[in-house]
Amino acid sequence: MNEFIALMLFTLLALGFGGLLAWAAKRFHIDGNPLIGQIDAILPQTQCAQCGYPGCKPYAEAIANDEADINLCVPGGETVVIMLSELTGKEIKPIEAEAKPKQFAFIKEEECIGCVKCIAACPVDAIIGAAKFTHTVITHECTGCELCIPVCPTDCIVMEEPSVTQRNWQWPKPVGPIGEGARK
Ligand code: SF4
Ligand code: SF4
Ligand code: SF4
Repeated sequence: MNEFIALMLFTLLALGFGGLLAWAAKRFHIDGNPLIGQIDAILPQTQCAQCGYPGCKPYAEAIANDEADINLCVPGGETVVIMLSELTGKEIKPIEAEAKPKQFAFIKEEECIGCVKCIAACPVDAIIGAAKFTHTVITHECTGCELCIPVCPTDCIVMEEPSVTQRNWQWPKPVGPIGEGARK
């Protein structure tokens, strides 16, 4: 009789622990492909959509699902392409988009009605202002993604190239592979 009771107890305990493990597996299950998070961690997180996806995470998902190439992130540039190639094993390619000169948004303040739509659209919080007050762009925070342009009801946001000063002037970047044109 004692052996029967012990057997029943062990059976009940086994069923209890089994149920607990099943619940824990369901409760703490991590959804999705872990590669997505690894790719997302490499991307610059400016959420500028220049890659053609609405943000870095959707682009990371597209790469992980073999739906997008690794050379679409303009702000990330070559460095991100190389890191993504090392992670995914995909071939290194030049950045897909045409190289554009560095630009930033500028708000014509006299035409701004303070609707705050541009603030909501800016992925990097580069615009400051309040409802019914003029807004302005923090130039050094602006990535030049142009997402604020179409939402402005008065078309008072324009893209401008930074003026060259002694602080930001640089030698022009050389073209061609390293060593090209060197004397032999
Ligand atoms: S272009 Fe780069 S930084 Fe911009 S949303 Fe796409 S992945 Fe993110
Ligand atoms: S200010 Fe406009 S162009 Fe600049 S980062 Fe924000 S949304 Fe993009
Ligand atoms: S969307 Fe245009 S009008 Fe509205 S706050 Fe921004 S700059 Fe001003």
